[in-house]
Amino acid sequence: MHHLIKDIALSVGFDACGIAKAEAVGDDEVYLQKWLDKGYHGSMSYLERNFEKRCNPTVLVPECKSVVVVLLNYYPSKLQNPQAPQLAKYAYSEIDYHTVIKTKLSQLETELKKHYGEGIINASFQHSFVDSAPVLERHWAQQAGLGWIGKNKQLIHPSLGSYVFIGSLMINLALDEYDSPMPPRCGKCTKCLDACPTSALQPDGMDARRCISYLTIENKGEIPAEFKSMIANQIIGCDICGDVCPWNKKWAKPHHHSELATNKEVLQWDKSKWSELSAQDYKIYFGKSSVGRAGYNKLKQNLEQLEMGTTTF
Ligand code: SF4
Ligand code: SF4
Repeated sequence: MHHLIKDIALSVGFDACGIAKAEAVGDDEVYLQKWLDKGYHGSMSYLERNFEKRCNPTVLVPECKSVVVVLLNYYPSKLQNPQAPQLAKYAYSEIDYHTVIKTKLSQLETELKKHYGEGIINASFQHSFVDSAPVLERHWAQQAGLGWIGKNKQLIHPSLGSYVFIGSLMINLALDEYDSPMPPRCGKCTKCLDACPTSALQPDGMDARRCISYLTIENKGEIPAEFKSMIANQIIGCDICGDVCPWNKKWAKPHHHSELATNKEVLQWDKSKWSELSAQDYKIYFGKSSVGRAGYNKLKQNLEQLEMGTTTF
């Protein structure tokens, strides 16, 4: 059953699948509480909510017995003009990745119901998740044997790297066999810690308030002065700690998911084209993408930040 579920997940187009027993997250609950207590989540107060649900899938989805975790590679086949203001690679696709993963998870649900009956999914509760619900996805991916949490706090799959989306599906089926958590394989490497321009990767966790991803998306208002000279040419998200990781250098390969197709025109834009971006063009080019979640004003503010000459291209 365990292998069949994984085969079904691969057949609907996911790149990897693992399954973990649904139970409280253990030490990660303590880690999460300390991380919140330190205020490392900044203004993302939604992370404080639903703490119990976040730490125990059986509270989030009653009757849930197993967590099916899936990965979707998003490493693009073509990168942006390196001289241009940069988007994180997860934001390249024309269609918001949340939509793509949710659609694929629905397909997986349908296939699992065909094999195991409607009862495999608790119909009264939302059951499939992709980074917008109270689920500790990286925890579950590690528990499901899909990789380990690197020193850059990203999930690293041993043969895909870290440019992967994580989705999860709570099912009501207890299995005889589960995958084993993968132990960390960073070893003595510190490349991500050394490369992070803002020292967001602290020994006691990632301080999101210092992270360029947070500063360019979540942070309301102006980017604090102390970080203005550090954000390089990032305008949405940041891949610096992912790009230096030896596991990505060795294993990250272009995806073949047509749903994650990129607008090739945008990849070629130079700095001046980005500077001229109008609200109308923003809607045309990014209206359906995850860049659209940041909002035009935030993107414009990030671009102006670069134009003020505080950063070098
Ligand atoms: S995403 Fe960028 S700013 Fe955030 S931890 Fe990684 S290198 Fe640092
Ligand atoms: S750069 Fe090195 S330390 Fe950082 S996540 Fe990758 S392997 Fe681990």
